[in-house]
Amino acid sequence: MSNTQELDKKYVLPTYARADVEFVSGENATLVDSNGKKYIDFTSGIGVVSVGHANKLVNEAICKQISNLTHTSNLYNIAPQAKAAQKIVDTSGYEMQCFFGNSGAEANEGAIKIARKYGEINGEVKRYKIITLQHSFHGRTITTVKATGQAEMHNYFGPFPDGFVYADTISDIEGLLDSHTTAVMIELVQGEGGVQPQDKKEVQALAKLLKSKNILLIVDEVQTGVYRTGKFLASQVYEIEPDIITLAKGLGGGVPIGVVMTSLKDVLSAGDHGSTFGGNFLSSTAACSVLDILNELKRNGELQNTIECFNEKLDIFFKENKKLFTKKVGIGLMCGLRTKDGDILNKIISNAKDEGVMVLKAGKNTLRFLPPLTITKEEIDEGFNSINRAVSSL
Ligand SMILES: *Cc1c(COP(=O)(O)O)cnc(C)c1O
Repeated sequence: MSNTQELDKKYVLPTYARADVEFVSGENATLVDSNGKKYIDFTSGIGVVSVGHANKLVNEAICKQISNLTHTSNLYNIAPQAKAAQKIVDTSGYEMQCFFGNSGAEANEGAIKIARKYGEINGEVKRYKIITLQHSFHGRTITTVKATGQAEMHNYFGPFPDGFVYADTISDIEGLLDSHTTAVMIELVQGEGGVQPQDKKEVQALAKLLKSKNILLIVDEVQTGVYRTGKFLASQVYEIEPDIITLAKGLGGGVPIGVVMTSLKDVLSAGDHGSTFGGNFLSSTAACSVLDILNELKRNGELQNTIECFNEKLDIFFKENKKLFTKKVGIGLMCGLRTKDGDILNKIISNAKDEGVMVLKAGKNTLRFLPPLTITKEEIDEGFNSINRAVSSL
């Protein structure tokens, strides 16, 4: 056992089943472990390091910022927070405002608070119910874990807040709406649940139905947001106008940040919600820098080239390994391959690590790929060479 593993075992609560590897440095989509071995990172720290490891532009921006100020609190004006909000709203094309927190779960908590207050002040009865989908993932706080439609995650920790109702599919939602429903919360591509994109027509019909009933549509874009699907938001891919959108993972390039953006600008008033750390100088400067980089990659076509290059390689890998995989799923650089069984999936992930490429699991039987959006063609080639070796013996 390494020194880190000894310390971890002794002093850190055992909530993670960590792989036996310790990374010590990285550059773009390449990681180096404590033995000097190199890996291609097809996980980007679960969709977080959107502009790659050790991104020079982000690092310069945050070093410059924190040599002046890191944090003053939301009692005072924060220039990079205001700028980050402007960039997020302008890039989205939606007429919205932002609230800044520190994580995906916290962003979803904010969304749920907005929906609950909206339901309380708009309607004849107090509306509080929020419908979510089976196999969804919305976070680990008491409320967001209850919002998550996975029964095995509700085994302990109760009692939970009331009012979460789970629909099997998008088309089942209509039958679950009642006079107490205030919102529906969905991921357009379920991430943790198994890289499952929703049907565009069904989502558009749902959005229209909810609008007609004055029920809010919350889209959890914690994983799909910030160009993961090729557009800034998956909501743009689906051509819908949600009332509330949440962002987190890829927005800060590794610095913790979460955002609720909404067209409901006057539901929350001063004192209704807040965060000590949210949108401080460090995290909002990181977000501004990440957005500048990705907006340019989108504008100059490089992001589209990377998406096509990665998906071509993944298509070939899928076609050559139909004995292991049944289906390719996903959008943009949020991709998955469904495996025939769950046991082989764990074997693929562990072989891949040994061969020098990091990949993820999603749901019970999906091999998930979330590479940095800045991954180079050479890194893509090298990663697929490694994963080919990883499955050759299976
Ligand atoms: C990761 C994730 C979350 C939770 O984000 P945290 O930052 O871990 O709280 C919520 N929703 C979705 C869709 C996610 O992928």
